[in-house]
Amino acid sequence: MNILAIGPHPDDLEYGCGGTLYKLAKAKHKINILVMTQGDMGGDKDIRKKEQMQVAKILKAKLFWGDFADTQVPLEKQTINLIESYIKLLKPNLIFTPFSKDTHQDHRNISQATITATRYIRNVLFYEVPTSVNFSPASVFVNIGPVINRKLQLLKTHKSQVFSTRVANLTILESAKATALFRGFQNRVKYAEAFVPLRLTLDFFYELK
Ligand SMILES: [Zn+2]
Repeated sequence: MNILAIGPHPDDLEYGCGGTLYKLAKAKHKINILVMTQGDMGGDKDIRKKEQMQVAKILKAKLFWGDFADTQVPLEKQTINLIESYIKLLKPNLIFTPFSKDTHQDHRNISQATITATRYIRNVLFYEVPTSVNFSPASVFVNIGPVINRKLQLLKTHKSQVFSTRVANLTILESAKATALFRGFQNRVKYAEAFVPLRLTLDFFYELK
């Protein structure tokens, strides 16, 4: 299977679907990562770029960049066109993208642009990040119990971001672990990642075999 995971900034997709991507990579599915900005508002962009490249290496993923300016991703045709061009190039069967209700405009605009760009794709899942709002219905789950430490390792690879949290005394690692525990409980396992489906076909599960 060809997977495309879209991230607004370096480390978003690791938070939302890092464990799932790790499991898919382990099962020899092809992982493609499209990061739309270099996250230059949250740190040195060269460092952040390198951190993202290391994550791609761990996931044996191909890494592509959107090259939009951080905080300025427009909800315009150029964003839709860019995502469409990667869909055309990579022919993904499954796409992960951030949830559309979010306090960050880049996340909202990328999510909305993805909805248009993926109109003929059969499997599209929204993932959550710390700025997601009303992430609901969180009804599709992946058990990431066996790979929770791998997910945290992906987040740790973004060294510049681990302690740059905006909430006092709370690192992104603790937040990610707590979220995974809560989603795990909802799915009756210890740790899970949750998704809101835009479109999910059950054929997908047969294709996995
Ligand atoms: Zn972000």
